[in-house]
Amino acid sequence: MSSVAVKPLRIVLAASEAVPFFKTGGLADVAGALTKALADCGHEVTLIIPDYTPLRQNKAGLPAVHDTGLQFTIDMNGRSVTGEVNWARYPQSTATVLLVRQAAYFDRGQPYGDAGGGYADNSERFCFFSRAVPEICRLMVLRPDVLHCNDWQTGLIPALLNSRYAQIAGFEQTASVMTIHNMAYQGAFWKMDMLLTGMHWGFYNPSHMEAWGSLNLLKTGLAFADQLTTVSPTYAREICTPEGGCGLDGLLRWRQSALTGILNGIDIDVWNPATDPLLPAPFSADNWQTGKARCKAHLQQRLGLASSPRTPLIGMVSRLVDQKGLDLIAGCASALLHRRVQLAFLGTGDARYESLLRDLAKRHPEQVSAVIGFDESLAHQIEAGADLFLMPSQFEPCGLNQMYSQRYGTIPIVRQVGGLADSVSHYDGTPAGLETATGFVFADYSMAGFSTAVEQALSAWQDAAVWNRLVRNGMHRDWSWQQSADRYVAVYHEALAKVASRKAENRL
Ligand code: ADP
Repeated sequence: MSSVAVKPLRIVLAASEAVPFFKTGGLADVAGALTKALADCGHEVTLIIPDYTPLRQNKAGLPAVHDTGLQFTIDMNGRSVTGEVNWARYPQSTATVLLVRQAAYFDRGQPYGDAGGGYADNSERFCFFSRAVPEICRLMVLRPDVLHCNDWQTGLIPALLNSRYAQIAGFEQTASVMTIHNMAYQGAFWKMDMLLTGMHWGFYNPSHMEAWGSLNLLKTGLAFADQLTTVSPTYAREICTPEGGCGLDGLLRWRQSALTGILNGIDIDVWNPATDPLLPAPFSADNWQTGKARCKAHLQQRLGLASSPRTPLIGMVSRLVDQKGLDLIAGCASALLHRRVQLAFLGTGDARYESLLRDLAKRHPEQVSAVIGFDESLAHQIEAGADLFLMPSQFEPCGLNQMYSQRYGTIPIVRQVGGLADSVSHYDGTPAGLETATGFVFADYSMAGFSTAVEQALSAWQDAAVWNRLVRNGMHRDWSWQQSADRYVAVYHEALAKVASRKAENRL
């Protein structure tokens, strides 16, 4: 339970993916873990996600999903589209999960797109989902205090609350909060897709739903929501600048007083090296050497790398896209290999990065492994078995892997951006620095900056006392969701206060 005495709120979270049901990236981890953390604080939480039915049907260990019998219809530009609602209990939680079923939109091989890119009807799919959320709240009489939306796929919801649903029973006090998980993905579509939004054409203007000549669903959420959050304090500052704002920095500066950066937590039950069923040997912050050494040996064997306890093993688990700094890795790869390290990559993404890593592994099979795919168990085993972990991102709203790494005794090498800057303490080589340091942080997005950090890390690897201290510092850090959940609740109350004062003004 929360340390802060709170009045229970009725919270509806809307997201396009959430663990344990569907995951393509960090959004799913956050949506799932925040749901659980808020329910653990005593709030009444409902998580609403699309039901990508075929993707969950073959997945082991999911909670049972039941049909509610509820059907609803949305007028999508003159065409009536019917959806259904399934429900499940969130694992080990009092929270409810509602899964929006619409076979034509969501029974696909992937949530957002295939090898050819995003699905051509993504605008329609997620306008439907966004319109389904308040409609389901209405039909199920959920009467939310707060509707918490995440990323562009749900950006239409705050606009609907301020227009169509403003006068509807059950939404009198409902406040909206919009969380930005990544400014680089905005849901920008052809302006005629306004017809799918259920919003009046008058809102297609630069103060509301239009940005740079397109309908922009992230902007819509940012313009209409009562409060805005993003996933780290540093990223909250970065997105208000022209470099970080991806074209929406003007709006964000205008709304800066409503914007809060809240660092994500991690699910410390799922990511716990002492109990993780996916590891060949458990280990804990107080006794990690033997277990971690066994995890490393197992990983080297699984990936076909040379069995060598003294060779530093560097891991990376990532979407393979420009954001993640793969051009720096490509540029430094041969220098790294000369330093006699091993590299273990796991990821999917842009074809050119996939083939670059595959080629590297083919040319250096004992030193480099590249698994192109999405593999939860290997992700856990790399976090546990590697000595070092790479995240040289161009930008990184929060990043989760650097937190998983520290919890698993794996030293992160990260760029000083976004949540990486907020969650990794650089080791500057001094005894005072060693008291709190947990990794290596570089500022310049350049091969020189990245190589220097790698050199610093490899020289720390040579000194067992330094290394052990870095590992211990990282493993003892608290990454639980409790603190972050309390901050979200504070934001919810700010949003509710805003709604209350708006209503009071309207009554005058
Ligand atoms: P982003 O959301 O930008 O992809 P994050 O670091 O916030 O980056 O979160 C990524 C999440 O997805 C982490 O939990 C990471 O372990 C997981 N992940 C990314 N790629 C893979 C993969 N190929 N296989 C398994 N897990 C992956």
